[in-house]
Amino acid sequence: SRAAPAAPKDLFTVSSPNVTYTDSEIRSKYTYRQTMVTKDASGKYIAKPQETLYDFKVDRKVPKTGVMLVGWGGNNGTTVTAGIIANRRNLTWETREGSNTANYYGSLIMSSTMKLGTDPETMKDVNIPFHDILPMVHPDDLVIGGWDISGMNLAQAMDRAAVLEPALKIQVRKEMAGMKPLPSIYYPDFIAANQEDRADNVLPGTKACMAHVEQLRKDIQEFKAKNDLDKVIVQWTANTERYADLVPGINDTADNLLKAIESGHEEVSPSTIFAVACILEGVPFINGSPQNTFVPGAIELAERHQAFIGGDDFKSGQTKMKSALVDFLISAGIKLTSIASYNHLGNNDGKNLSSQRQFRSKEISKSNVVDDMVEANSVLYKEGEHPDHTVVIKYMPAVGDNKRALDEYYAEIFMGGHQTISIFNVCEDSLLASPLIIDLVLVAEMMTRIQWKAASSDGTATKDFKRFHSVLSVLSYMLKAPLTPPGTPVVNALAKQRSALTNIFRACVGLEPESEMTLEHKLF
Ligand code: NAD
Repeated sequence: SRAAPAAPKDLFTVSSPNVTYTDSEIRSKYTYRQTMVTKDASGKYIAKPQETLYDFKVDRKVPKTGVMLVGWGGNNGTTVTAGIIANRRNLTWETREGSNTANYYGSLIMSSTMKLGTDPETMKDVNIPFHDILPMVHPDDLVIGGWDISGMNLAQAMDRAAVLEPALKIQVRKEMAGMKPLPSIYYPDFIAANQEDRADNVLPGTKACMAHVEQLRKDIQEFKAKNDLDKVIVQWTANTERYADLVPGINDTADNLLKAIESGHEEVSPSTIFAVACILEGVPFINGSPQNTFVPGAIELAERHQAFIGGDDFKSGQTKMKSALVDFLISAGIKLTSIASYNHLGNNDGKNLSSQRQFRSKEISKSNVVDDMVEANSVLYKEGEHPDHTVVIKYMPAVGDNKRALDEYYAEIFMGGHQTISIFNVCEDSLLASPLIIDLVLVAEMMTRIQWKAASSDGTATKDFKRFHSVLSVLSYMLKAPLTPPGTPVVNALAKQRSALTNIFRACVGLEPESEMTLEHKLF
């Protein structure tokens, strides 16, 4: 029997003529202010403010949501599953350092706050958990399932991952032992040959076919029905694949991609098959690995079906630091001239990445992460000029999931001086990635419940409510190589990515962007 949908219980309401609440919706009228910049005949910039009035509509009913992970039996899959169970049951366990209680640290949505406004009496900030700005799903309520080419149940797979403390594992073991990944699709050419001995839980066939797409759709439908879910989100946290070659006539358009799947073309990867199945099923699909799952044909297919997609590659350790640090250096007017990034890790991800073609996917996704910041500063960098940037990854079994990331940032400072920053970052990989998996689900789900209509100051207007673009670039904060709608810029700078997410959610409840001006504290 199904629990009644939770009545909206908001932490706050917005008291404004621009915001209205009904039992089922929050409606807001929001003025979006941009500055359009042109050049006049003499080459001088003309900056002209422009306003667009948006109507946002948020569905307040929090749906019963399931998440299906591809690669469920891997380090991330088992860690996020055990972590959610432990939180749901509010577990405590002993370690040699004392007792630990389950938490969602590392989740932007669950463990960070944003300023709602100012208390008029004390003039102090009033901060609320990010999770409370909109009616979002709570991770404790997620139903988890998924696929893996390895047939181990989740308790065995959690032991194989060697991430969690024994005293925690013992408490979740029974529940996890009852969870077994669905058989998946395995096309050996796409992941490292050293993964072959895991592949004992696979559907027949070693190349793309429509039968695979149909089977995955059926798996999603059955998971939804069995657990009485309103919504499902699918996420790829399986091995990094090699890049698929972009072949005209094969994966360049939606129709060609569907034909290529029918004819069993060898350049269609398992992750693209999952993406296509989800798109056709209308289920959001997020790619947490670096490969080019979203070939142009897959993006076009998503647009055609108005299905949500997001990617690529979780941004957990080294790159997260990089996208914060480089943003800081270049914004401070310091000329970064080289970044050398070394990694060694000993988990199965590292083993897979020890193969050249899979490493290449990671190298690409780790390499472009400072482009936007460099390009934005024409004082420090001439057109086309770029800091040197090298990425090395080595497999070192002994360190297991505790990846070492060593970075040297070398920069030019005032009058020809230099600044050298060395970082030694021990990233407990799956414990950093698991909260990102949760955030990606929560934000992607929320985006399915937001609609918009616009009226611009130039007189143009949208008639009907629409959804956000299929490519959810609002997920960028959690991703190393953010996928954006075709033709739109990529933002890598971490602070900008966070602002975009925060301010879009604020706009949906009619609140102004967080400007940080705090004029109230600065004037006589
Ligand atoms: P893992 O090797 O422990 O887990 C991957 C799982 O995927 C394995 O259980 C494997 O059997 C399974 N698998 C492989 N191909 C499959 C297929 N076609 N269908 C279903 N299952 C399949 O790796 P992990 O540490 O959990 O990382 C998962 C992915 O996330 C990797 O690609 C990694 O590069 C990426 N990633 C991880 C982090 C992080 O952990 N901090 C950060 C960024 C990206």
